[in-house]
Amino acid sequence: MLDLGCGRGSFHYELYQCGIVAIDLNINRGDRRAGISYICSDSKHIPLADRSVDAVVCHHTLEHFENYQQVLREIARILKDRAVLWIAVPNGRSFDDALYRLVFEGGGHVNRFTRTGLIADVENMTRLRLIECVDLFSSFIYLKRPTEEQYRGFPRTARVLMHIPPEVNTAGVLTLNAATRIIDKVAGSRTSQYGWAFLFGTEGIRVNPLDGPCFNVCSNCGTGNASAELKVRGLVKSVLGLGFYKCMFCDQLNSFVKPPRSVG
Ligand SMILES: [Zn+2]
Repeated sequence: MLDLGCGRGSFHYELYQCGIVAIDLNINRGDRRAGISYICSDSKHIPLADRSVDAVVCHHTLEHFENYQQVLREIARILKDRAVLWIAVPNGRSFDDALYRLVFEGGGHVNRFTRTGLIADVENMTRLRLIECVDLFSSFIYLKRPTEEQYRGFPRTARVLMHIPPEVNTAGVLTLNAATRIIDKVAGSRTSQYGWAFLFGTEGIRVNPLDGPCFNVCSNCGTGNASAELKVRGLVKSVLGLGFYKCMFCDQLNSFVKPPRSVG
């Protein structure tokens, strides 16, 4: 499995038995994990043989790649005849992407994708066909107060986040999460949407269906929390008519809004 644009690792490597190759332009020594093959490389020229990879993961990376069409052609070259491709990208027309680009002065997003546009690009440039697509929702995690290390790498406008008192910052992010979801429930809009996750496969590939979309996403760790599971575990509370939940993965307190029927 290839993690393309791996950063600090874009999925839980320890959950998989297969061989994993992780590629990025720069990989910090401290982020390297045992048993993973790391390669520092440009994604437009992947240093792997033709038809040598079973699965490629592009998790929140394709929006950062200049000439992403060339990256898709490289992916097509290295994938085996029976293979899958995971792509997660922001909706280039969403409120979330506009806010992120505003705060982070572009934030390295050089591509704006639409759902139909990306599907057409992948299907035209590779042998793969769409198997499934799910909506991804935002937690506005990028508005969280930065660490000292993050702050040093932030552009000028984003540095404002460091000067907001932590309590005000936390309350602001909670309010934004709740407000966008309430608007979406009332108006049938998608202001809380981040983008989509796509699963593509070669002909004849059979995979288990993806989990449904998670409307509530943790503002601390960015993980989606399935509403049904939160309720079964008793993690949803109501205070003065407002909903809250404790993240199943990091215990952070978040605002909870029951998903509209269109989200499930
Ligand atoms: Zn969390």
